[in-house]
Amino acid sequence: MVNILVINAGSSSVKYQLINMEDESVIAKGLVERIGLDGSCLTHRPTGKDRFVLEKPMKNHGEGIQEVLKALVDKDHGVIPDLSSIKAIGHRVLHGGYRFTQPTIVDDEVLDGIRECIELGPLHNPANIKGIETCMELMPGVPNVAVFDTAFHQTMPDYAYLYAIPYEDYEKYKVRKYGFHGTSHRYITQTVLEYLGKAPEEVKLVSCHLGNGSSLAAVKDGKCIDTTMGLSPLEGLVMGTRSGDIDASAIPFLMKKHGMTADEVLTYLNKKSGVLGISGISSDFRDLESAAAEGNEMARTALNMFNYRIRKYIGAYAAAMDGIDVIAFAGGIGENDQDVRREVLEGLGFLGVKLDLEKNKTRGELKIISAPDSKVTVMIVPTNEELMIARETQALCM
Ligand code: ADP
Repeated sequence: MVNILVINAGSSSVKYQLINMEDESVIAKGLVERIGLDGSCLTHRPTGKDRFVLEKPMKNHGEGIQEVLKALVDKDHGVIPDLSSIKAIGHRVLHGGYRFTQPTIVDDEVLDGIRECIELGPLHNPANIKGIETCMELMPGVPNVAVFDTAFHQTMPDYAYLYAIPYEDYEKYKVRKYGFHGTSHRYITQTVLEYLGKAPEEVKLVSCHLGNGSSLAAVKDGKCIDTTMGLSPLEGLVMGTRSGDIDASAIPFLMKKHGMTADEVLTYLNKKSGVLGISGISSDFRDLESAAAEGNEMARTALNMFNYRIRKYIGAYAAAMDGIDVIAFAGGIGENDQDVRREVLEGLGFLGVKLDLEKNKTRGELKIISAPDSKVTVMIVPTNEELMIARETQALCM
């Protein structure tokens, strides 16, 4: 068996999947939560067997991942006889800065490079590094691959990724648009091309990853030429709890009005804003839609803002690419929410977009939902970042 373990380490959590690369099936997946906090817990889901839950203190990522490895080989709820069938480990790493344009096998120098990007990804990179270090320690000799959320966007031209601030700030501090969800946008791109049987040069694609965090990517010739997120994931679309685009002068203004520090305002814009901040109800689209259906006007406004911003960016990317052939929806909202898809696409008739309202009434299915005479093919593409990480890892290690 050729298995790849995919690890997504967050500040107090580790998500994992063990994937059999012979048929790309998930053999087990799970989550360690509340690492270093009260109530640490592992939930392990072996395919074809009962779920296993372990509640015990796990002080750090090392202890958490140790429990994951034990669960994978356990005689009752395990899925492999021993760890030797795990041929490589793929890690999600948030920020690869300007340095990492491709998935990379991790050695000490690469680890130093990821550490250098902590400044750019302060919330995620430290945890990602801990995940990698732990795996190096617990499974010596097994290659670790870092798959960066930013890498897919490294093909953007300078006029798209530069901010119009003194160029020195780019040269000295590498302040620029990086973009995120790259692994998902790459998976969506590959899936669209494969499903339609097209060569990269034949498709101008707007890839819409809409989940708790949301971003679009404009993909031409199989390469990203622009994306909505920026230096951090805060820029671009209205999101669950993030403001997306905002005039920078609002920041000192809010600092004065609320007596907040710069970091506090950033937390405010990242965690308390977006559709949650506007509606005051929830960041979850199911809650917002039921509230809007019951006549809650601010829920309706939040949804309108979310949809309008996406539509505006699709229009912008049509201009950036000299047309659009495919719009693909992915992520928890993109895959499941027919109302968002319909409302985003209303008003894009001038681009030749014609949604088939019946086909749109579906969830989580890889399929075309545009009408046969639509000039633009609209698709739902269930994204799979873990599988993409496993594929990238396999390509580098085997
Ligand atoms: P993440 O960015 O954390 O990976 P997901 O891509 O899983 O998030 O998206 C989660 C979001 O998807 C939820 O907050 C919710 O708004 C939305 N969502 C999930 N299921 C549905 C559904 N059936 N209808 C509408 N929205 C949904």
